[in-house]
Amino acid sequence: MPEFGLIIDGSKLPTEEWMEIRNPATGEPVGSCPVATKAQLDQAVAAAARAFESWSKVPDAERVEAVGRIAGVIEKNAAELASLLTKEQGKPLKGMGSEFEIGGCMAWTGATAALQLPVKVLEDSPQARVELHRKPVGVVGSITPWNWPLMIAIWHVVPAIRTGNTVVIKPSPYTPLSTLRLIELISEVLPAGVINAVAGRDDLGQAMSEHPDIRKIVFTGSCATGRKIMGSAANTLKRLTLELGGNDAGIVLPDVDPGAVAERIIGGAFINNGQTCAALKRLYVHESIYDEMCDALTAVATQIPMGNGLDENVLQGPVQNQMQYDKVCSMVEEALQAGGKALCGGAPASGAGYFYPLTIIRDVSEGCRLVDEEQFGPALPVIVYSDIDDAIERANRSDNGLGGSIWSGDLDKAAELAGRLECGTAWVNAHGDIRPDVPFGGVKQSGFGVEFGQEGLEEYTSVQVVNIRIEG
Ligand code: NAD
Repeated sequence: MPEFGLIIDGSKLPTEEWMEIRNPATGEPVGSCPVATKAQLDQAVAAAARAFESWSKVPDAERVEAVGRIAGVIEKNAAELASLLTKEQGKPLKGMGSEFEIGGCMAWTGATAALQLPVKVLEDSPQARVELHRKPVGVVGSITPWNWPLMIAIWHVVPAIRTGNTVVIKPSPYTPLSTLRLIELISEVLPAGVINAVAGRDDLGQAMSEHPDIRKIVFTGSCATGRKIMGSAANTLKRLTLELGGNDAGIVLPDVDPGAVAERIIGGAFINNGQTCAALKRLYVHESIYDEMCDALTAVATQIPMGNGLDENVLQGPVQNQMQYDKVCSMVEEALQAGGKALCGGAPASGAGYFYPLTIIRDVSEGCRLVDEEQFGPALPVIVYSDIDDAIERANRSDNGLGGSIWSGDLDKAAELAGRLECGTAWVNAHGDIRPDVPFGGVKQSGFGVEFGQEGLEEYTSVQVVNIRIEG
């Protein structure tokens, strides 16, 4: 079994306490995760603060080169990282699983290297020259979830480093090992202290949010934790980017051919077993095509093979952890009791592991948790509607606002309806498609700030205006 350690100031360090991490498909141990003490967190933050002194002054071209080295080291170790990720997270190696996630890490790293934040000249006249500069903020604390542990780590870490910040990252206690290994590899190609990794339980995340020498927290996770972080960060007025939960609605208009879109809808709903922030989590279908759409979705979902993700034929792994598995079990049970009918799945699989088959529930509506709350698992409620204005209003009746989608052959009408959805990204005839050059973020209680693209990069900087008065 590989040895894992905290990554502080360029070294791999042990600690006194260790947590055993188990494979959610088999229950077998994957490795031991070091639990950082508060003193080790202080050590990591101090190392990052020291490294910031020089890293923030490094010429831009050198930082671009460094980001290129990060992409290289991920590519070189892709097979090891993918296999470790499957063992600890449960997602399949193939399909939209671990190899896909590592591919995403490389794509996002490469795209971020190519972005620039040039000085903007706001006035250049005989009277004045006014320039807007983008400066790094300092030590960035990154707190990540368990669903896409490596890709989300890269989304946080690479733009931070690219813009001259230094980082302390804390992965989820459910999936820390692949992140510790990733950061170990990255730290080998960067100056000591530019990137540091601590691991531990939720209280370590709280200590980071409160830490006086961390200037910004970038957090991806649940809304409940986002609120706590905002509270803990208040005393030191930290900058925050909060990418939180979603309960994305998709609305299918009557002109759609169900057979033609079913595969895309299933992909949008069940990517990573539904454990994706911007997965399609409620599907509203017009009454004129409701039965046909339900049948088409079921035909696709029942073709997806479930099992241990290390088997290369498998395209659906287990739910990642017991807490999430119990949540899906109880939400589906409640939906069935409320009159919903399971077209496929509807109960957990027997045997070892947190396996829950892809589940589609029809004849459900608002008032049950599967519709009103984020399920974050392999269960999709399909809801009938008759009036599009009513469907939009029901889609917007949520505290969340991450993504949403409209499905129709009439692109102009679909785009107009998409604009009425209260969410950060509204897709037409797709759901969940994200790109490294297009900003992504939530509105309402799905958080604030964006990731990706120019706007995402700017989040890791503060504005400094240099205002020069010219005499004469
Ligand atoms: P979580 O909020 O339980 O945990 C996320 C991280 O926060 C973990 O590292 C955890 O240890 C840490 N944490 C917990 N309590 C903390 C505290 N008080 N202070 C600081 N840190 C603390 O989330 P999760 O269950 O790991 O992830 C699932 C959630 O993440 C879902 O709601 C999902 O929608 C959301 N998510 C959002 C996005 C997005 O981009 N918007 C992407 C992926 C996941």
